[in-house]
Amino acid sequence: MTSVAVNDQSATELAELIRVSRTIGSDPALVLHGGGNSSLKTTTTDITGQAVETLYVKGSGHDLATITAAGFAALRLASVRRLLPPVVVPDDALWSELRCALLDADAPDPSVETLVHALLPDPVVLHSHADAVLIISNTVDGSARARSLFGNLCVIVDYAMPGPDLVAACDAAWRARRGDEVGLVVLGHGLFTVGSTPQEALDRHLAVVAVAEVAAGTLPPTPAPEAAESVSPTELARVRGQLCRTAGRAFIVRHDTAADVRAFIADPALLSATERGPLTPDHVSWTKPWPLIGTDVGGYADAYRAYVLQNRSRRALPITELDPAPRVVMDPRLGLLTVGRGTTEAAAVAEITRHTMAAVARAEQLGGYRPASREHVFDLEYWLFQQRKLTRASRGDSDLTGQVALVTGAASGIGRGCAAQLLEAGATVVGWDLATSVTETFDSPNYLGIQLDVTDAAAVAEALAQQIDAFGGLDILVVAAGIFPTSANLGELTAAAWRRTMAVNVDAVMELYGQAMPLLAEAFPYGRVVLIASKNVAAPGPGAAAYSSSKAAVTQLTRVAALEWAGLGIRVNMLHPDAVFDTGLWTPELLAARAEHYGMSIDDYKRRNLLHAEITSGAVGRLATQLCTEDFACTTGAQIPIDGGNERVI
Ligand code: ZN
Repeated sequence: MTSVAVNDQSATELAELIRVSRTIGSDPALVLHGGGNSSLKTTTTDITGQAVETLYVKGSGHDLATITAAGFAALRLASVRRLLPPVVVPDDALWSELRCALLDADAPDPSVETLVHALLPDPVVLHSHADAVLIISNTVDGSARARSLFGNLCVIVDYAMPGPDLVAACDAAWRARRGDEVGLVVLGHGLFTVGSTPQEALDRHLAVVAVAEVAAGTLPPTPAPEAAESVSPTELARVRGQLCRTAGRAFIVRHDTAADVRAFIADPALLSATERGPLTPDHVSWTKPWPLIGTDVGGYADAYRAYVLQNRSRRALPITELDPAPRVVMDPRLGLLTVGRGTTEAAAVAEITRHTMAAVARAEQLGGYRPASREHVFDLEYWLFQQRKLTRASRGDSDLTGQVALVTGAASGIGRGCAAQLLEAGATVVGWDLATSVTETFDSPNYLGIQLDVTDAAAVAEALAQQIDAFGGLDILVVAAGIFPTSANLGELTAAAWRRTMAVNVDAVMELYGQAMPLLAEAFPYGRVVLIASKNVAAPGPGAAAYSSSKAAVTQLTRVAALEWAGLGIRVNMLHPDAVFDTGLWTPELLAARAEHYGMSIDDYKRRNLLHAEITSGAVGRLATQLCTEDFACTTGAQIPIDGGNERVI
C-alpha cells in the first residue's frame, strides 16, 4: 500500500518509463552495476485529493530486479526544486532532505543524482554511464573530442564530483545551452538525455551512444594466444589468503584466463594504462582506484596506504577503517583475479573489469587512455554516500560471509543440512555428491554443486581446482559423504561390502584430506574441518560391522589430522550424530517398520534417547556450522555427540 494515489495518466507514464529503463538497464555497455538511473515528472494525487507535481526517480539499487514501480521513489517536485542552485546542499544534509520530500515513507532512497534530474525541465530524463561515451571523454584530448563529436547534440560538462559540484556544473552548462540540445554529457561520468516521453528520451540516448560507438572504434580480433599456463590451485589460494589477510576479511576471488583477458594482460602498455584510473570514479568502490599488476599484495597495500595518507585532507570524513587490499589483480602468469566480499560482488568486479579492459584498449587506439575524472577518484571513494552504501551493503554480512566451504554428500541428508546452514550463515558453499541432483540442491549464487565419486582421486583434484577458480579458496571442509551398507551379521558380511564401505567412508577421506591440506593451510582466517562420524564409533551396533568400523577408522584418521594440522592453525573436529531420520536412508515405510519392530509409535521411535529429542539433519548442520565460527576458536580434536543422550555413549 502506498500513499501516492497514482492516476491513470501517471500510471501509464511510469509503466512506460520502467519499460525504457529496463531497455537501458539490461545492456551492460550502457549500465554497469548502479551506473545510471531515470526519472519522470508528472502529476499525482495526494491523500487529500490534491494534485501534486511529482518527480519519480529511480531508487538506489544496482540490478535489473530493482527496475519496477517499487524501485522508484516518488518525491514532491517543489520540495526537490527548492534545493537547486544557487542553494548548496551539503552531502550530509542531502539524504535527509530527499527523504523528507518523499510522498511515501516506505520508498527506496532516491538516487544521489536526483537533483540533476530535477534541474532538467523536461518530463523524462534518462542517465547512463555508456562505455562508448566514457571512452571518448577518457582520451588524451577527450574534452575537445567530446565537444566536436557531441557538441551539436548535447551540452558538455567537465567532470565534477556527484553532489553539489555536479549539480552546479550541470546547472551552469544547461543555462548556457543553445536550446536544441537533447541532453548533457558529463565528461568521465556519463550521459543524460531528456524527452517529452520515455521513448523520445530513449531514442535520443541511443542516438548519442551510436555516435560515440562509431567514434570509439572497434578492437581488432584477438590473436589466439598460447594456451594458458596451468596455475596450481594452491598458488591461487595463497594469493587469495594474502588478499584476505591484508583486508582483514574473507573474500571471494574469481579466476579468469579467457583468451581476450590473457591477450590484454600480455600487453605491458595496456596494463600500465589501467593504472591511470577507473573508467568512471563510480567504479572505484568495486574496483579500488587501480589494479594490482603482478602478485605483490603487500606492495599494493603500502602504496594504497600512502595514497590515502596523502589525500585524506581532501575529505572531511574521518577514514576509520582502511582496507588496502586490491580488488583486481592482473598477472601475466596467473591471469585475472577479481575480488569481492561475496560471489555477487566478485562477479560485478569481474564484469566492470572486463568492460574497463575493452574500453582502455579502445581509448589507447584513439591516442591514449586518460580518465577525465582521475583527479576525483579519491574524493569519490571516500565520499559520504559511497561509504554509506558500503555500510549498507555490509549490514547483511554474517560471520561466514566471504568464506568458502566444501561439503561432501551435499545432495541429501546431513550433508544437505550442513550446506543449508553454512549458506544461511553467509558462506559460499561447494557441494559434492554422487547424485546428479547435487547441481540443483540449492538455487543461490553462493552455491556450486559438483557431481562426483569421492573415491575417484582425479575427480576430486579436478573439483578442488574448479572450486579455486570459481571462489579462490577452501576455508571450511565438512565431510558428510558416506554409505551405510545393508545390515549384515559377521558370516553374512561380504568382503566386497566391507571394502566398498571402507573405500567411501575411510579411503576417500584420507585422499581428500591429503589434497585439501595445502588449500586449508591458506584459508582465512584459518582452516576448519568437521567430520560427520557416528554414534556407532562409541556405541557400535550389531549387524553394522562395516559401518561401525569405517566410522571408527575415519574418526582416528581425523584425530591424526587434528594433531598434524594444528601447527597450520587448522581446527579439526568431529560430530557423532545418531537417529537422524530425515535422510535418504529412511523412507516412511522403513521408519514405520522399525517403530513396529520395537512396539513404539513412530514419534517415540524417533525420540528413542535420553532427552526424548528429535534430531534433524538441520540440527546437525547448525552444530557443524557453529563449530566453524569463532565461538570454537580454541577447540580442535573434539568429538561431540548429537544424539539426544545415549547411555552407552555417556
Ligand atoms: Zn551517474
